[in-house]
Amino acid sequence: MSIQQNLQKIKSDLPTQVTLVAISKTKPVEAILEAYNSGQRIFGENKVQEMCDKQLLLPTDIQWHIVGHLQSNKVKYIAPFVSLIHAVDSLKLLQEINKQAAKNNRIIDCLLQIYIAQEETKFGFNFEEAEQLLSSPTFQDLKNVRIVGLMGMASNTDNTEQVRMEFRSLKNFFDKIKNQDSRLETTYTILSMGMSSDYTIAIEEGSTMVRIGSSIFGERGYAH
Ligand SMILES: *Cc1c(COP(=O)(O)O)cnc(C)c1O
Repeated sequence: MSIQQNLQKIKSDLPTQVTLVAISKTKPVEAILEAYNSGQRIFGENKVQEMCDKQLLLPTDIQWHIVGHLQSNKVKYIAPFVSLIHAVDSLKLLQEINKQAAKNNRIIDCLLQIYIAQEETKFGFNFEEAEQLLSSPTFQDLKNVRIVGLMGMASNTDNTEQVRMEFRSLKNFFDKIKNQDSRLETTYTILSMGMSSDYTIAIEEGSTMVRIGSSIFGERGYAH
């Protein structure tokens, strides 16, 4: 199936309140243009350099999301144009995003990455750490970042019940934070969970944003 057909198929599966981020990492600009020409405007990349290179070559109304672990020293390259940062996993990173956003005279939307998988991973906050961050005065002082929601990745496993429980725990935490923090009330609306292998489960469990790569563009040549 073509990129256009894949996109149409996926979009027909998505409830209207769920936003599709087309994850185009490792794929050429021609592939992105094909998706763009069938109406897709939100694209996600996980490497800063790659995203900057592509951004220069592609239409300016594309909204670029950075989805992978982001190193603080690279924030400056994407700060002028990035539309959403999915994986804020430390206060230090958030402070750097705030600084670079201020330099560019803008407010940058961010999601906190929450660690929900059973497996070992280096990145993301646990629930308690995320709550602490959101209630800390240091965070409250950051005027050029806006926390618009949370992001999580389920375990990479065939056990769909486990995946479901992990997504459910994130949705519960998302709701808890929403009810607690009045500052977040109006802008905190995004729950980014679900990829090619598990997005239908994620949607059933309350996802509002799915990040889909290989089901649109085909398998990638190497592991990411
Ligand atoms: C690569 C990637 C995706 C998309 O993965 P697919 O399995 O190709 O859909 C989603 N989220 C993140 C953070 C990624 O790095």
